[in-house]
Amino acid sequence: MLKKLFKKTTAAEVSAEKPSAQSGRSGSEKPDTDKPGSSKKAEAGDSAQGKRGKRRGKRSDGAQQPSWSVSEFQVPEVPGKVRFHDLGLDDRIMHAIADLNFEYCSPIQAAALPHTLRGHDAIGKAQTGTGKTAAFLISVINDLLNNPIEDERYLGEPRALVIAPTRELVQQIAEDARQLTGYTGLNVVTLIGGMDYQKQQNQLTGDLVDIVIATPGRLLDFSGRGDLYLDRVEHLVIDEADRMLDMGFIPQVKRIIRLTPQKENRQTLLFSATFTDDIIRLTEQWTYQPVNIEIEPEQVATDNVEQKVFLVSEREKFQILQRIVRLPEAVSVIVFANRRDQTRRLHERLRKGGVAAGLLSGEIPQNKRSQTLQQFKDGKIQVLVATDVAGRGIHVDGISHVVNFTLPEDPEDYVHRIGRTGRAGAKGTSISFASEDDAFLLPAIETLLGAKLPCEQPPEEWMS
Ligand code: AMP
Repeated sequence: MLKKLFKKTTAAEVSAEKPSAQSGRSGSEKPDTDKPGSSKKAEAGDSAQGKRGKRRGKRSDGAQQPSWSVSEFQVPEVPGKVRFHDLGLDDRIMHAIADLNFEYCSPIQAAALPHTLRGHDAIGKAQTGTGKTAAFLISVINDLLNNPIEDERYLGEPRALVIAPTRELVQQIAEDARQLTGYTGLNVVTLIGGMDYQKQQNQLTGDLVDIVIATPGRLLDFSGRGDLYLDRVEHLVIDEADRMLDMGFIPQVKRIIRLTPQKENRQTLLFSATFTDDIIRLTEQWTYQPVNIEIEPEQVATDNVEQKVFLVSEREKFQILQRIVRLPEAVSVIVFANRRDQTRRLHERLRKGGVAAGLLSGEIPQNKRSQTLQQFKDGKIQVLVATDVAGRGIHVDGISHVVNFTLPEDPEDYVHRIGRTGRAGAKGTSISFASEDDAFLLPAIETLLGAKLPCEQPPEEWMS
């Protein structure tokens, strides 16, 4: 287990150490069972397991790594860039990284991985689009591979737990996790509300589980019913902590954290786009001598996105939207509106106008949402209409346009919205409508961006 292997050092010590790729590999170290906390953890686990009465499980199968060598994945060294090859990662992950065509680490990966691979806790200030998901997944998966558990294990005892605020985000993380564990035999299970409980339960009782990715409520349901035990969790990832706070999930997250080993005996990785006083207090409670990693939002969200603001009246908005979706370059468009009823109406009007449109909002059942997202990814749907919460989990490359049909009330949401385009190095366009009802929201957005957003009239011919 990870925390048994390391004496934790402070962030300052970590920076001074500049670990080499080899020393970053936890697998090269021998377990030190005398470390404080580890025996306590085992006792707690043993007595709990006695009560569980669960049958012990041995992994039923393991994905075989087809014959592959890292020499098949050549990436030239470039000054100032970190290659995944430089981090001493297990070949099974390198194989998956090669399949994903990731060549160099993104800035957050380059900043975080040297520390997290050595077992340190980390707090990352990063938005979506920065590669933070792969940053934490690669770190966790590499450690699980370096420290396999040879003894019998119990069912329902994950070694790593990722919690995220929305179902879409959980599904997206799980998709990335399945790709990255494709050659490892590690078992990834998602637990999310709004989806078949029984199916999810079967996944927990059918085989050993290594990584659980979950929304807080559903996770607590499973743990409350005795299908899931968190006292063997070695890695805890809390994603979008600020969103978790906004959505009122913090009491649930606190309960979950209390079910995991003490912070000294687990690795905690926490990500948040913003750090308010509340979030800072929580991170202090939940992490142990973490390294702080900050990636500025401007670098992330806006570099590849051309941002336009059209000054329009409320009643002109739909007509202009129709013009935008008919542009030949508008191959894949997300339209954001603030309220569910607005998204519903927009979706209906677009469909009546013959546009292949889909709707993602909280009132749409989860399986339908997943289906819609898949159709959007497959190019069968050209325009997706979404609310902020539903749109947060949309990680689709190749989105050409984001339209803010209404400006968001929270400036952070603006950055999230436009970050849906311009991903993975591509260029994107965002068009925001500023009308008499919402133009007053622009200055706060500009303050957050640290830049003025030039306002313009839509092209004259669009108004006729
Ligand atoms: P995220 O911030 O986790 O939502 O990731 C944003 C996107 O970047 C996803 O589509 C990832 O597949 C992609 N990505 C993550 N890391 C890398 C990398 N090192 N190189 C290229 N693309 C990446």
